[in-house]
Amino acid sequence: MNKKQIVDKLEEISLYLEITGENPFKIAAYRRAGQALEIDRRSMATIDDVGAIRGIGKGTKRVIEELMETGESSVLNELREKIPGSLLELLKIPGLGGKKTGKLYRELHVTDLETLQAVCEKGRVRALPGFGEKTEEKILKALKERSRRPQELSIAYMADLAENIESVLEKVPAIGRFSRAGSLRRAKEMMKDLDFVLETADPEKTADGILEILPVAEVVVRGESKMTVHLSDPYRVSVDFRFAEPATFVTTLNHFTGSKEHNVLMRHLAKARGEKISEYGVEKEKEPVRTFSSEPDFYRYFGLNPVPPEVREGTDEVDLARRGPLGLLKLSDIKGDLHMHSTWSDGSYTIEEMADAMRAKGYAYACLTDHSKSLRVAGGLSEYRLMQQLEEVARVNARYDDFTLYSGVEMDILPDGTLDYDDEVLRQLDFVIASIHSSFSQNRLAIMKRMEAACRNPYVRLIAHPTGRLLGRRRGYPVDVARLIQLAKATGTALELNASRRRLDLSAKWVRQAQDAGVKIAINTDSHSIKMIDDMALGVQTAVRGWIRPETVLNTLPREAFDTFLRGRKPV
Ligand SMILES: [Zn+2]
Ligand SMILES: [Zn+2]
Repeated sequence: MNKKQIVDKLEEISLYLEITGENPFKIAAYRRAGQALEIDRRSMATIDDVGAIRGIGKGTKRVIEELMETGESSVLNELREKIPGSLLELLKIPGLGGKKTGKLYRELHVTDLETLQAVCEKGRVRALPGFGEKTEEKILKALKERSRRPQELSIAYMADLAENIESVLEKVPAIGRFSRAGSLRRAKEMMKDLDFVLETADPEKTADGILEILPVAEVVVRGESKMTVHLSDPYRVSVDFRFAEPATFVTTLNHFTGSKEHNVLMRHLAKARGEKISEYGVEKEKEPVRTFSSEPDFYRYFGLNPVPPEVREGTDEVDLARRGPLGLLKLSDIKGDLHMHSTWSDGSYTIEEMADAMRAKGYAYACLTDHSKSLRVAGGLSEYRLMQQLEEVARVNARYDDFTLYSGVEMDILPDGTLDYDDEVLRQLDFVIASIHSSFSQNRLAIMKRMEAACRNPYVRLIAHPTGRLLGRRRGYPVDVARLIQLAKATGTALELNASRRRLDLSAKWVRQAQDAGVKIAINTDSHSIKMIDDMALGVQTAVRGWIRPETVLNTLPREAFDTFLRGRKPV
């Protein structure tokens, strides 16, 4: 377990304790332990005695050690048995903390959102000490807003679910190959449901095997060719599992990957040749149904170069694939990651652990880019700490001969348009990223003034997560992206496609425009933990949706060429 996961578990324990009405000192002890861990600059693997950290007592030390050894906590497990987990959902209602939730649970036997709604409607909540009529009204209003289930959910949310489902599918012996299909396979930002295609000769056993492990709220359809379930997550996401025999796996996958518009283009093409495409294969009169061993083979059969799922949107992909290879970016083109955090700011792992993980990923280089001094909530580095960090980067870097760790920083662009460090500091770093983390409510003019200042600085090589959006959760600040692209072009500044599943910003539409304008894109994971490094795949998928070619992407450069790039100067 990494630090973030342990801190989350400690927080969960303290919430449960609040709900049970435990004594406040015990609750505070867990909170304090979590904070102590967060403040400590080491990762879990490099702390040899958690008990020695100020703020961690005997009891909490035992819990932390158990979590580290087993990934579980007997204290937490006991609490979970005693208290319905659905109560934690209540905590997402504004104004309801652990204490109030505890009262509702103990006094009114509220166990989930539905029972909460019922007691509110009966006017019983206002009678509880510490609640009142206003609170009751507020809770009801929040409940109504929540029940308006969003039409579409973000890829961040859905990819998490999909990963859980995939770990289940791996455990079911009746399943051979399997793949994501539908919108998720095409890496759309928002989607309604999940689709998987499974290779199996035994649909019955497959369905049983899945239902045995996967937490499901409801089985909607169960048949020979598919099963549809609603998961037991808060949105009850609908998942389609399509069953295919080995021979038809590829055509089934192609069919259910879509998009519908792309499938229409392909059917037209087939029709013109007197053929018919379906999920079962390609049919021609008096000939046996044709199946394929791979999707590229399927496209080649129709005289097309392979069309990756991400661009199957029914625009001009079929025409272009007829003319020649699409030449789009592949995950294997990526040679390094230029944006990551360590325990020196708000990351969960040490510099050395992050660098090792990047190298293990097969990269030739990575840039360490912790936060700058003004971002205090994220442990931003003072000039002094940053200079100390340079020494640590040099020490770590000396361990490798097949990998380079570059020094860098993610520097805040301050609300008044100044930058968080002087040029004197910046010029000592290999790679400087600038980004906005504050005053999102400024108007477009003020935001663009900040962007321009960063682009015009000779040491700033990249603008990170340029719009500041969080998919499905936060719009970001009002940036004029078209203007930013012009500025980036004029100043030789690169723009980021932040691969973190929560951001994916710039979006496909904008990276495509940036590429057309001749602006370089860097695809970076902004990793705060080792697991996040894997989000590069989603970043590359988003880039492919934007028709990005490898030569547009800064971090496809081999190490020597990237070195040369770093030594070069901006034309400002
Ligand atoms: Zn950032
Ligand atoms: Zn960052």
